[in-house]
Amino acid sequence: MASPPDQEPTGKTSNFLRAVIDRDLDNGTYTQRQWGGSPGDAAHHQAGEPDPARIRTRFPPEPNGYLHVGHAKSICLNFGLARDYGGVCHMRFDDTNPEKEEVEYVDAIKDAVRWLGFGWEANGTSHLYQASDYFDFMYRAGEYLIEAGHAYVDEQTPEEMRVNRGDFGKAGTDSPFRSRSIDENLRRFREMRDGQLEDGKAVLRAKIDMASPNINMRDPTIYRIKHAEHHNTGNKWCIYPMYTFAHPIEDALENITHSICTLEFEDQRPFYDWLLDRLAEGGLVNTPHPRQYEFARLNLTYVITSKRKLKQLVDQGHVAGWDDPRMPTIVGLRRRGYTPESLQLFCERIGVTKSDTWIDYSTLEIALRDDLDPKAARAMAVLDPVKLVVTNWDEVMGAGHLEPCSAPVHPHLPDLGRRAFMFGRELWIERTDYEETPPKGFFRLFPGNKVRMKYGYVVECVGASRDASGAIVEVQARLVPDTKSGTPGADAVKVKGNITWVGVADAVNAQVRLYDRLFAVAQPDTGEKDFLEELNPNSLKVVTAYVEPSLGNAKGDQRFQFERHGYFVADRKDHAGEAGKAVFNRVAGLKDSFGR
Ligand code: ATP
Ligand code: MG
Repeated sequence: MASPPDQEPTGKTSNFLRAVIDRDLDNGTYTQRQWGGSPGDAAHHQAGEPDPARIRTRFPPEPNGYLHVGHAKSICLNFGLARDYGGVCHMRFDDTNPEKEEVEYVDAIKDAVRWLGFGWEANGTSHLYQASDYFDFMYRAGEYLIEAGHAYVDEQTPEEMRVNRGDFGKAGTDSPFRSRSIDENLRRFREMRDGQLEDGKAVLRAKIDMASPNINMRDPTIYRIKHAEHHNTGNKWCIYPMYTFAHPIEDALENITHSICTLEFEDQRPFYDWLLDRLAEGGLVNTPHPRQYEFARLNLTYVITSKRKLKQLVDQGHVAGWDDPRMPTIVGLRRRGYTPESLQLFCERIGVTKSDTWIDYSTLEIALRDDLDPKAARAMAVLDPVKLVVTNWDEVMGAGHLEPCSAPVHPHLPDLGRRAFMFGRELWIERTDYEETPPKGFFRLFPGNKVRMKYGYVVECVGASRDASGAIVEVQARLVPDTKSGTPGADAVKVKGNITWVGVADAVNAQVRLYDRLFAVAQPDTGEKDFLEELNPNSLKVVTAYVEPSLGNAKGDQRFQFERHGYFVADRKDHAGEAGKAVFNRVAGLKDSFGR
């Protein structure tokens, strides 16, 4: 059967990046390129073997926070393309900025990528790199640009530099330092490196075109002085490369073919190419050099994806930590109950485009349901319990009798077996399953109505007792004998309502955390209000629930569908199972309730 036009033979939906890769593979753009077995300069790679990777991509986070759902998109994209095309995706820590990085984040980032289902081992090599290992080369590239007449040390004040850069309507003005001799530039750059100048006293700039319509090409700064200790290189350096200079070099040293980034870097692409073309002319980097491609970042409704702002939520105590289940961090989504498969499915479905849009949060929940529905074990749980007393139980069944009942663990997976629980005189039911005067279309418990207690017996509601304030404290019903599910008499009485319940005798007491969206507005942080004012005050409701006995054995991270309620996970930190406290988080409801 022929594939539909937008499908590749792999079954993956095509997109502009796949089109670019297909074209490069057809044209053999990178087939002649050698790989030196590790990152390195042109000579290193040219002494190597033909590159065993058909393409090379990279995921280059700055280790300054925990990864979030936006990063998941980038991870699925970069690692996914490498996997699908017989390539390799490098895990690279972009740690060129001293001070800001913390080693704690490095481990968390590696965990997140692995948990999502990806790895950086390929062809017997671990492709785990850190950009700060390339500082020596970057410095050498700086000197090379000076020697080739493509860079100069500028000693204007930051204010003069800003004014002389011009703006969209006005060409820039050449710095008086722009025409310095090569020797003087080299001497000054070495003095910068040797710590003879204070922070902010000089920068190294590429010499391109101060009249360029693209302001990024008006002699961009490529090195600055910063007397700061770096977590990897210590005090070896007091000058550090700018991101726009470092990133193309990192890509080139690693033999990256397709360097995929978000749209805000589109205006940097001419400099990316300019720089690598110059370094290739000088024989410093392997050719053909990598190319940059931009895609639209993920914007998800009710969610903020800025590491800085997420850090603020944590630091100011608006959430319980980076892994609070309301956080859009990967650790938060994991603790909330999202699966790696559901996040991969989500990323696959949203695709990649070049236009900025907002993805509805329900898309994420739908992916979760689609992943869990076919595999999650079912269970009954009563989240807002009120007691139902079967008044004729002792008379019909015998005092103290408990009747064993069972249900399939999963309706479509008989191999998973059955769960067992007891029917008795007292059951827990949902408070909302009783109405004294039923509204139209209400088929559950009201005086005179018969319902089936799911997997158990049919009962006929008698009434309810209330406390002094009028709140219902107990509902009463009479057993209709010989109607147990699965017995010949089960179909003798026709009922419209089917009610979930848990036996008082064998129920497990559980804390259930009902999470709602963290922000009250769909596009937080886009209007005039501070994003902290848009927090949803009701994003967490904790209830004491009763769950069926099979959940007493749940392990942390195990996911369930609570019948009628949605998907829940045993909290990976607080759930203690068996003897200890049972704690479940709601991942998502059964139906879309987010867009209410
Ligand atoms: P933040 O602003 O949250 O700190 P960042 O872009 O600075 O994000 P990095 O650690 O530099 O974070 O990002 C690593 C990679 O993840 C980059 O390639 C970046 O393009 C990508 N990325 C970050 N946020 C998103 C997003 N919302 N959607 C898609 N990709 C993203
Ligand atoms: Mg960043």
